[in-house]
Amino acid sequence: MAENPFADGCAYIDGEYFPIAEARIPIIDTGFTRSDVTYDVVAVWNGKFFRLKDHLNRFERGWNRLRMNPELSIKEMREILFECVRRSALRNAFVEMIVSRGIDEDGSRDPRRFRNRFYAYAIPYVWIAKPEKQEVGIHLVVAQKTIRIPANAVDPTVKNFHWGDLVKGTYEAFDRGAYTVVLPDADGNITEGPGFNVFVYHQGRLRTPATGVLEGITRQTVLDLAEEQGIPVELDRFGADVLEEAKEVFISSTAGGVIPVTTVNNKSVGDGKPGKITALIRKRYWEAHDEDRWTFPVIYPKI
Ligand SMILES: *Cc1c(COP(=O)(O)O)cnc(C)c1O
Repeated sequence: MAENPFADGCAYIDGEYFPIAEARIPIIDTGFTRSDVTYDVVAVWNGKFFRLKDHLNRFERGWNRLRMNPELSIKEMREILFECVRRSALRNAFVEMIVSRGIDEDGSRDPRRFRNRFYAYAIPYVWIAKPEKQEVGIHLVVAQKTIRIPANAVDPTVKNFHWGDLVKGTYEAFDRGAYTVVLPDADGNITEGPGFNVFVYHQGRLRTPATGVLEGITRQTVLDLAEEQGIPVELDRFGADVLEEAKEVFISSTAGGVIPVTTVNNKSVGDGKPGKITALIRKRYWEAHDEDRWTFPVIYPKI
């Protein structure tokens, strides 16, 4: 039997579906040349989209804030996401959707005159840290040489491609023997890391930065699950000192879920093992991927 050409992933570009390795965008697309773009990433786990509605709502808010006006409706986009997953036949997938300012049709450089473009693709599920690594926890540092791009320059609540600060911070983490990084803002408040939010369990409550961050759907899921478990939660501001003092630390992302952190700035968190609250939330997070309230099943073709 012929192998499925979409098995490694499937992309949608300009009305057509492509095997992921053959997917190409125009080089003059300002999503590429100017990072003039917003995007979202939703997971498919065991054949079901997780919190798809929430991801689509955030995505739509994003392009509205950027004053873009894609030619497809949310309903059509949703259908394309399902089709990318169906064609790939992936049961566990990382599904990205993008709206870019697109192409300057008349050389005007007037952003109002561009034709905005929609892209989407499904590839195998992506882990910021693999499950084996999550069992022992990761090493995290707070960047000393890079701050997060100020929120009044690039709005962090619109998921974006301005990753210069996050990538620079990642190299600092490697230079200091760590796995990844979180960036402070100009006042020293912790913000977030490359594609994830951060939580501490500190003084009997779960805390995460209130502002200056992308409001992660995983972050929201952690807050929802914690409330169900009767764990007090607080959205606030805190600095590196709280990360270092906290009993437990974890990060959250669609790409890997709830990921325990066992050192901060090369100091042990708690007893140096993934914490109990973290373990409970992490367990509930994966269980939730099978709960009707948050999942949208894909109907795959028969093979
Ligand atoms: C995507 C992302 C997150 C995590 O958001 P989720 O919806 O939980 O995947 C956090 N911070 C940044 C900068 C991101 O791009």
